[in-house]
Amino acid sequence: MLADARGRPLRSLRISVTDRCNLRCRYCMPEPNYAWLPRGDLLDFAELRTLTAAFQSLGVSQIRLTGGEPLLRRDLPRLVEMLAGLEQRDLAMTTNGALLAEHAAALRGAGLQRVTVSLDSLDAATFRRLTGRGDLAAVLAGIDAAVRHFPTPKLNCVVMRGSNDAEIPDLIAFGREHGVEVRFIEYMDVGGATEWSRATVVPRAEILNRVAGAFGAIEPVVRRDAAPADRWRLADGTVFGVIASTTAPFCGSCDRSRLTADGTWYRCLYAREGLDLRGLLRGGASLEDLRRAIASAWRVRADRGAEERAALGNRGVLADRAALQADPRLEMHTRGG
Ligand code: SAM
Ligand code: SF4
Ligand code: SF4
Repeated sequence: MLADARGRPLRSLRISVTDRCNLRCRYCMPEPNYAWLPRGDLLDFAELRTLTAAFQSLGVSQIRLTGGEPLLRRDLPRLVEMLAGLEQRDLAMTTNGALLAEHAAALRGAGLQRVTVSLDSLDAATFRRLTGRGDLAAVLAGIDAAVRHFPTPKLNCVVMRGSNDAEIPDLIAFGREHGVEVRFIEYMDVGGATEWSRATVVPRAEILNRVAGAFGAIEPVVRRDAAPADRWRLADGTVFGVIASTTAPFCGSCDRSRLTADGTWYRCLYAREGLDLRGLLRGGASLEDLRRAIASAWRVRADRGAEERAALGNRGVLADRAALQADPRLEMHTRGG
């Protein structure tokens, strides 16, 4: 089995299919202007299929389509169909949900297995403020479509102090009512989060306290792989998750990597350097050449970006505006989250 320098396997690949987005979430795209990837550099569907096949042959069993907003990529169901044809074991997508109502049926029909929708507030005015331009009603319609067409949809909610932290119990109640599991994500100091500060992070312990305060005792859902619990259960059986990437990072078991829409492969969300797979692909590399390049890069991977960030005494933003303008691949919305 392919393992990196810390013994971690390569199991999961997040494919960003576009760096464009129809929202401007405060924690991801707070700036007035962005540098975009050149159009001609975007991988076409055949190239994405070839790379996905190379990754799968090396042990990747979980593929997640993301962005930017993946539903802005034209003909996305056709890509899903092409990837689903690759003996796919797990094919999922993360979306902001704004366009999901119109695409959910086609995506499910094409072979998409799972969907996660981002939802940060149930109050229309707060939602608009947090997402820059989002229409809560459209996203709620998207969640409704997700529930109708997909087996176990999930909701992602980035918690920011003073913005949506008071809504934690409401979001759990919403998830319970609609049969979707809610996952609270700590605000991360990733590239693009230019407004990040330690003070705006609501740590996992506090999120759990707020849930317990509203619903009573909670217990961890025990995982078979003995990893630290990231899911919790209320007395009535409702399960929710907390992703503590900022205060309790889990790099030790990280089997994830990310492919940007222009074919740059990152072995860590925080990595400065990626591997140019588009260059290899367009330079005529065979499947075997791609496999070799990916495998040798994974074998030397020692990244533990979030743990290194957590160890910093004085933690500021990861990349400043000038660095992000110079290399848009440092952005969360380019890497896919
Ligand atoms: N546009 C889609 C969406 O929002 O679901 C997919 C791409 S988005 C980059 C993927 C995930 O990254 C979302 O769930 C979003 O909440 C999360 N994310 C973005 N910036 C973040 C930050 N600074 N801290 C924590 N999570 C973040
Ligand atoms: Fe928000 Fe996702 Fe767009 Fe980032 S990529 S601004 S998280 S919707
Ligand atoms: Fe994995 Fe890097 Fe995230 Fe750590 S910071 S969990 S190594 S992607």
